[in-house]
Amino acid sequence: MPETSPPEIFDCQSCGACCAYSEDWPRFSLETDEQIAAIPAKFVAANECGMKFENGRCTALTGEIGKHVGCGVYAVRPQVCRDCMPGDPECRIAREALGFPVNDLPDEEIWWN
Ligand code: SF4
Ligand code: SF4
Repeated sequence: MPETSPPEIFDCQSCGACCAYSEDWPRFSLETDEQIAAIPAKFVAANECGMKFENGRCTALTGEIGKHVGCGVYAVRPQVCRDCMPGDPECRIAREALGFPVNDLPDEEIWWN
């Protein structure tokens, strides 16, 4: 779930698809040991390679997907979650997989210009 997702651009809090697409997505990558340790252990996978994924969603995801969601570890969420932005390729893959529309997403370039 993006760090910067102001509703006037796109409301990620009404989606959550990228938090429910694949257990292989919310993986740790560039995090330091201290950053991983800051994530409550109950949300971390047993192999400590990423977030724990159960029942088709990251265990830190709160709310109802496609209606209103939140990240229970927002301040300490993994880098991959910070990097995903509405309209980028990963976002489109996740939304399409969950049957959510993609035509109203912002252009990916909006985040980098
Ligand atoms: S899939 Fe896209 S729109 Fe949905 S929460 Fe993730 S970044 Fe936001
Ligand atoms: S840590 Fe937060 S942003 Fe990342 S997949 Fe889980 S609920 Fe989504």
